[in-house]
Amino acid sequence: MTMSLLSVEQARERILSRFQPVTTETLSLTGCSNRVLAQDISAANDLAPFDNSSMDGFAVRAADVAEAATASPRSLRVVVDIPAGSHSKISLAPGEAARIMTGAPIPEGADAVVPVEDTNFDNRDAGTPAPNEVQIFRAAKVGANRRPRGMDIRAGEVVLNKGRVLKSQDLGLLAMLGFANVLVYRKPRVALFSSGDELLPVDAPLEEGKIRDSNSYALASLVEDSGAEAIRLGVAKDNHDAVKALLEKAMELNVDLILSSAGVSVGAFDFVKPVIESNGTLDFWRVNMRPGKPLAFGEYRNIPFIGLPGNPVSAFVGFEVFVRATIQRLRGALNGGRPTVRVRCEEQIDSDGRESYLRAQVHEEEGNFIAHLTGHQGSGNLYSLVQANALLIIPAGVKCVPAGQEVNAWLI
Ligand code: AMP
Ligand code: MG
Repeated sequence: MTMSLLSVEQARERILSRFQPVTTETLSLTGCSNRVLAQDISAANDLAPFDNSSMDGFAVRAADVAEAATASPRSLRVVVDIPAGSHSKISLAPGEAARIMTGAPIPEGADAVVPVEDTNFDNRDAGTPAPNEVQIFRAAKVGANRRPRGMDIRAGEVVLNKGRVLKSQDLGLLAMLGFANVLVYRKPRVALFSSGDELLPVDAPLEEGKIRDSNSYALASLVEDSGAEAIRLGVAKDNHDAVKALLEKAMELNVDLILSSAGVSVGAFDFVKPVIESNGTLDFWRVNMRPGKPLAFGEYRNIPFIGLPGNPVSAFVGFEVFVRATIQRLRGALNGGRPTVRVRCEEQIDSDGRESYLRAQVHEEEGNFIAHLTGHQGSGNLYSLVQANALLIIPAGVKCVPAGQEVNAWLI
């Protein structure tokens, strides 16, 4: 049995190097939220696609209204009405104006738009006919209230890159550019099981010596939240046949990763090792971290397998440290784990020299993030994680963080 002591970084690198992005599929735009782009997107047209007005008002020649003021309005002849969705072939001559609505194309000859508020015709109701004449109360510069063609994006520009996790605003842009279908990575499939004779289903009454299986719920949620599909296989009893049956099921279901919790501490997993090794490989690692020192990594019939520790907080932290980035790689995302922020520790924090992930409540005070530890930091105390909104990261080798010092943190 391999029992090397690895740094968090080494363990993460060993795991990540085993994974490649899954295959791709073409999806209708409506199904693409939070999916990862598998193609670069370049704009087929300019945005804005044509010069248009950013106000309801009157398209004018700026030179005509250069002297306009409330006391000395400039009167223009309204020769055309351009509601949004229409366009006009008329070219404005000196002394002429067009009534125009927001988003409507600015006609030839006009180089500015005067908002209705700066005229004697401040009726915005599209049903009202345009006046024959309008008084302009204020001068407008060339380009005023005009959104020129291509001001946002030029045709041919690459606007979204392969590997980007698609956000709501990206879907809006894809729609603007006419992408009804998009090439994305398929959702990775992650099989999940808990192990332990002490575990009861969530709806069972408590019995002496038993606890309810909470990890499979928390981990399934983390898996989904990371953009993968969680396939819950239930609880494996602590015996050879039970574990074998679940692993075979995972294989039949064609998953990209098998994730288990519990039984990775020394000795505890002995019955799993032969099952996996009958059709694969399994390493046990001691990782220089807390919580969650033990970690199992291997593969069963070529499906990668990660065994997280059983304590609920250790399982959660193990997921954040090793599995989140793994799922990001599987689903083709360029950016891996959570972003790090700097937070100031409200109290002194003692550590044991391992890379430590501590539960904390972070609040903002005069522009700084201030952190204080929550509840009991023991790795079985899930409530202290529930009360936390951050994991503080105390680096390896550090035994004491004085009050007032800053550390890295993940907001969770
Ligand atoms: P083990 O890794 O099997 O030694 O388990 C470590 C601790 O985690 C024990 O207290 C287990 O009862 C607990 N544990 C294991 N699996 C789960 C689970 N699915 N949900 C909640 N607690 C668990
Ligand atoms: Mg156990």
